[in-house]
Amino acid sequence: MEDRFNFLKQRYLSLKEEIENACSKTGRNLSEVQLIAVSKKHPAQDIAYLYQLGHTVFGENYVQEALDKQKQLNDLNLNWHFIGSLQTNKVKFVVGNFTVIHTVDREKLVSSLAKQCQKKNYCQKILIQVNVGREPQKAGVLPEGLEKLTEIVLDQKGLKLEGLMTLPPYTENKHQIRKYFSFLRELKEKLEQKFSIQLKELSMGMTHDFKEAIMEGATMIRIGTKIFGPRE
Ligand SMILES: *Cc1c(COP(=O)(O)O)cnc(C)c1O
Repeated sequence: MEDRFNFLKQRYLSLKEEIENACSKTGRNLSEVQLIAVSKKHPAQDIAYLYQLGHTVFGENYVQEALDKQKQLNDLNLNWHFIGSLQTNKVKFVVGNFTVIHTVDREKLVSSLAKQCQKKNYCQKILIQVNVGREPQKAGVLPEGLEKLTEIVLDQKGLKLEGLMTLPPYTENKHQIRKYFSFLRELKEKLEQKFSIQLKELSMGMTHDFKEAIMEGATMIRIGTKIFGPRE
C-alpha cells in the first residue's frame, strides 16, 4: 500500500515537473494547461492516493467503471471528465455526472445528450472529438463534418460547447505529431471565426506526446500511463 503511494507520488511529481518545463520552454502559463489524470482500469484507491497529493481532476473511459468509482470516492471533492466513446443508451448515466464530456462526435449523440439535459434541466459542457488522422477505426467527426456538427451543437440549449478534442494517429515522429495538434488548433480558430464564438479548450496530448501538445496550445492534457503505470 505504502509502496503504491510512493510509486504514484514519484511519477506524479516528475510529470508535474515535465509539464512545467514544457510550459516555460514555450512561454505558456502553467495555469493554462489542465492535467487530467486518466484513471481507467486503475482502482479507486489510486485516485484516493492522487487526491492526497492534491490532484482532483480525473478522466474515465467506461461509464459503469466511472460511476462505481464516483460512488466509492463520494466524500472526496473530485472533478470527473468523460473521455471514452459514448453510446446513446448510456447518455442518461453520464449527463450531470461529469464536468466535461470530451467525445461528442455525431448528430445522434448530440440530440440524445440535449434531450437528457432538457429532462434534467442541466447544462452539460462538451467537447467535439475530431478524427484528425482520418483513421477508420477511431471515433471523432471527420474534419469536413466539423462545421455542420458544431452548428447542430450550438442549436441545443442544454449543451455548452467548450472546444475540441483529438486522439491523433500514433507515431514516433514528433514533427508529424505536432502537425496533427496544430491542425486541431486551426480547426478551432476557424470555428471561432465562422460562428463568432470563443472556444477555450483544446484537449490533446497523452503520455507519449503531451509535450508536443503543450507546444501547440493544449489546454487539457489526458495522461494515464505516465502516472499510474501500464494498464492490464
Ligand atoms: C487512455 C486514454 C488516455 C491516456 O492514455 P495514456 O497513453 O495512458 O496516457 C488519454 N485519452 C484517451 C481518450 C484515452 O482513452
